[in-house]
Amino acid sequence: MKRLISQGYQTVWQLIVGRRSSPLQRMHLAFLFFAALVGLASAVFNLALALTSPHHNGALLVFSSIVIWMWYRARWHGEARRMAWWLCLLTLFVILPLNWLFNQGMQGPTLMFFLMAAAYALGVMPHDGWQRRLVLMGFVVMPLLLLMLENANPHWIAPYSERVGQALDLGVSYLLNVAILIVIVSGHMVRIQREQQRSASYAAQLETLARLDSLTGLLNHGAFHAELQSRLPDIAKGKPYVLLSCDLDYFKHLNDTYGHPYGDEVIRTFAGLLRQTAEEAGGVAGRCGGEEFAVLLSTGLEQAKAFDRQLRVLCHDHCMRHGAIRFSSGLASAVPGETIPRWTERVDRALYMAKAAGRNRLATCDTSISPLNDWPSVT
Ligand code: GH3
Ligand code: MG
Ligand code: MG
Repeated sequence: MKRLISQGYQTVWQLIVGRRSSPLQRMHLAFLFFAALVGLASAVFNLALALTSPHHNGALLVFSSIVIWMWYRARWHGEARRMAWWLCLLTLFVILPLNWLFNQGMQGPTLMFFLMAAAYALGVMPHDGWQRRLVLMGFVVMPLLLLMLENANPHWIAPYSERVGQALDLGVSYLLNVAILIVIVSGHMVRIQREQQRSASYAAQLETLARLDSLTGLLNHGAFHAELQSRLPDIAKGKPYVLLSCDLDYFKHLNDTYGHPYGDEVIRTFAGLLRQTAEEAGGVAGRCGGEEFAVLLSTGLEQAKAFDRQLRVLCHDHCMRHGAIRFSSGLASAVPGETIPRWTERVDRALYMAKAAGRNRLATCDTSISPLNDWPSVT
């Protein structure tokens, strides 16, 4: 039963405000719909209790029908913004002043309606437009003007014939206004909540993107170095780590021969193979520069050498237009207490050695930094 009621409520609500409308549009559509209902209900109520003149009730019926038509245009023809503007003008300069005249002026509920309409207009009018300024000015000036006019010409307004009629009119109008206020404030709350969720999700996406290289999706230079930094406490405790740096061979020549877009494709392909191998080995891969990559492995040197071999086999098997991707690599294990620049310097030196020894190979520097003439071993 509860589910049935909730489903029925959802269906009616969606009919009124649409399924895909933004929170602001929903608020606008709900306001239009309920304002028209309030108008119709007031006309019936006034008529039943003979509170106001038949002309007033007729006018209420006409304006409520116009508002229903506005809701229809906004709901089914995408004219929400235009209808918001027209409704503000109509309410401010026609409906509420007439209501003031025919519904007992300052003794009646019109001031309350002015306040509610202002709360609605503040929410739906574009923030920087002249229309908003005009409407806001109207909401300040019109009630004051009507108060002054009534003060100067009290005979324009027919008073309530009975106190009970006034109490009923004010009570019912107050309740209707509270209902409209709830619609307006809930609309704003939903909007704020949605916007908060959306900005939190964008912030999370941006944070991820800021860590990734846009061409390959691997960690970028900064994020990879942050990763190295985060492992220093473990290294200090003696946990084994190796850093492998890979640089594609003769890449400039490849770019010159096959074009830059093809070069990009080779970089992406190599990054994919590197990521796959690193994930299998439980390591972290990054792109440190143009055609330079690095992998951090929580293993010993021998497993790191096997990793390098496996990557070469993969590259060999994955033949591209120019042939297999060839690369040189340098390898160095972490030494407790050593700084990251010293560690990467040893890796670079090993890489340089692999290049100098003819490329397409791995060089290892497995001790702490050696004198410049003491080159690492090449395998
Ligand atoms: P070596 O074997 O000594 O490493 O020679 P190399 O030609 O690979 O090295 P070098 O440093 O002379 O040239 C690297 C080239 O990589 C130059 C640069 O245009 C190219 N490169 C850097 N980043 C990109 C990129 O994102 N896309 C492409 N297509 N090329 C890039
Ligand atoms: Mg290079
Ligand atoms: Mg290169």
